[in-house]
Amino acid sequence: MLPFKLIYSDEYYLPIGQHVFPAEKYRRVARQLIESGIADPSDFLTPQPASDQDILLVHTPAYVNKLKNGTLSAREEMQLEVPYSPELVRAFWLAAGGSILAAENALKDGVAISIGGGFHHAFPDHGEGFCMIHDVAVAIRRMQRDNRIRTAMTVDCDVHQGNGTAAIFAGTRTVSDPLPSSARAVAGRRPLMRGAHAGDVFTISLHQENNYPALKPPSSIDVDLPDGITDDDYLAWLDNALSSGLRQFEPDLLCYIAGADPYHEDQLGGLGLTMEGLKRRDELVFQVAKTRGIPVMVTYAGGYARRVEDTVAIHCNTVIAAEEVFGERRPAHT
Ligand SMILES: [Zn+2]
Repeated sequence: MLPFKLIYSDEYYLPIGQHVFPAEKYRRVARQLIESGIADPSDFLTPQPASDQDILLVHTPAYVNKLKNGTLSAREEMQLEVPYSPELVRAFWLAAGGSILAAENALKDGVAISIGGGFHHAFPDHGEGFCMIHDVAVAIRRMQRDNRIRTAMTVDCDVHQGNGTAAIFAGTRTVSDPLPSSARAVAGRRPLMRGAHAGDVFTISLHQENNYPALKPPSSIDVDLPDGITDDDYLAWLDNALSSGLRQFEPDLLCYIAGADPYHEDQLGGLGLTMEGLKRRDELVFQVAKTRGIPVMVTYAGGYARRVEDTVAIHCNTVIAAEEVFGERRPAHT
């Protein structure tokens, strides 16, 4: 049995037909966790869909009405890059409910993982890049509304910049001097680390610079990584961004967006991380959160490996990494 909860429903499946987004990955991750003995069925909690009231904590009434009434324009549906259906709307409301449940359980157990979510390209008034509703932002705003947390930090390690996250929480930001350049940390490479202080939500995004979205609204800290960056350099930048962020800001909740697409075999990514490097990335985030006593909720975001089983393995490894960092003991194998 795991020392934390996994949030999952078969209804997480996104009904989008043949698509580069492997919508079946959630089901495969859940099944593999049980079949491999990593998780027990009792480790899972089933989420309920978020209420419209929850969704409206982040999204505009006009956008929510369009989704509920099926009145997105052709242009809006194109920007979403997944085919609209009422079933898809339900799946996104459920993803938001899953992230709310993950946040609640993270506050209770120190960590919780939703086997889904992480739709970081959704904006208050529109969706894009396969993301209709920003489930993580909804969870943060709901926890704040319930006075369960005051502040939160998003740590987005998907290969694509968290443009929706940056836009949603930009309103709370106050302008400050840019961070001192930390390019010395990684010899021979010069990605740009830029940032500004945040208001009640501090946003960190590590992503490939030459990739979607073309327009990257500023996060509190953005690390614009060069193509093909490998494990050690990536981990140095992540360590750097986390230290810098936590020097400036004390979050009551850390929202880790654990995209599988920085993987070197990803079809939509251009970074060079190995499967082992991605697991070390997860361990680093968990270790930092644990050391500082910050509860961490995890969502999965993207993952488009040529072999879907690689994406599934990367997502399963996130659960293993959490168990290794937060577990009381390692299982003894003799
Ligand atoms: Zn992505």
